[in-house]
Amino acid sequence: MLNFPKPFSQPQPHPREFAVPESVSQAHHPHTSEILELFRLRGDSQYGSEPVSQREHALQAAWFAEQQGVDPNLVAAALLHDVGHLLHDLPDDAPEQGIDDHHENLAARWLQRRFPAEVCAPVQLHVAAKRYLCAVEPGYFHQLSPASVCSLRLQGGPMSELERVAFERLPGAAAAVRLRRWDDAAKITGLQTPPLEHFARQLDACLASGPPAGHDLGENT
Ligand code: FE
Repeated sequence: MLNFPKPFSQPQPHPREFAVPESVSQAHHPHTSEILELFRLRGDSQYGSEPVSQREHALQAAWFAEQQGVDPNLVAAALLHDVGHLLHDLPDDAPEQGIDDHHENLAARWLQRRFPAEVCAPVQLHVAAKRYLCAVEPGYFHQLSPASVCSLRLQGGPMSELERVAFERLPGAAAAVRLRRWDDAAKITGLQTPPLEHFARQLDACLASGPPAGHDLGENT
């Protein structure tokens, strides 16, 4: 159970569900089809105040992960780490308005019914990983984008020593730190990446064995 304190506690939105048209659902696992539909409907939205769309950000993060030859589950996590932003109706610039959308928890709740823990845990911990890196890595904070610094304040700022120790013990923490670096880099205007269809096949592979029984994630930062 992950339970770091937050400076501002707000009610957390519940993930939306999407109906998948027949035409989208034929070629892939049903959950992959859902994700393709989600990106078709909402992927053009802006990634906060960053110079890329949500789709571009997801594809760049997944592409960086794949180029490092990591496990397909971690490539899937990179692709889906911000899916929570697509599952609520808060404005794109919510952090600038002082609102923490808790997208990592929203994503985890949505993903845990679909994907194995190796996908869900790094997604849930990718915000905590930013707070962790701010605490342990000199210079990390200063390479964050202004938007990421803005959301960091809402997310609790750099971890305390107690939080750091607790974070390092969590399953998926190391994977979340790797994911975080791809997340931070995936803001390049015009970068060419493989299309969603390329990663859809990888999602199908991750989904082949289904989510483990009783898979349940606690809430965290
Ligand atoms: Fe991100």
